[in-house]
Amino acid sequence: MSDFDFTSAAYNAQLAEKKLIGSRCKKCGHTFLPPRALCSHCHSSEMEPFEFSGKGKLAAYTVIYFGPTSMKNAGYDSKNPYCSGIVDLEEGARISAQIFGVDIAHPEAIQIDTPLSAEFFERGEGERKKVFLGFKA
Ligand SMILES: [Zn+2]
Repeated sequence: MSDFDFTSAAYNAQLAEKKLIGSRCKKCGHTFLPPRALCSHCHSSEMEPFEFSGKGKLAAYTVIYFGPTSMKNAGYDSKNPYCSGIVDLEEGARISAQIFGVDIAHPEAIQIDTPLSAEFFERGEGERKKVFLGFKA
């Protein structure tokens, strides 16, 4: 993977293979997902590809009743809301994603720090089929 470039295109290509590849700073060890070519912590450009385990914890969440068109097309609306959250990954990075396996009907019962694991799922048909990253409680 030495020719990995730290772009969202490269990230999406790995996601399509159901792999969670970000970057890690060779100088200070900070990790990033999606990958960054420059470390926002120490400004080094010495990055290496880094595979995340997909394990993490829920840091923040919101239940969305009126989502963007892509989510409407996926069947979500005010009668079928979804949970969007920020996940603190075990290896240090933070990412926002759809959260599954939580009680959307009772958002107040959803717990911060709930252990989560990455789940890859497909949306769309034929050429529009795309792999998305979600997290499951
Ligand atoms: Zn750094």
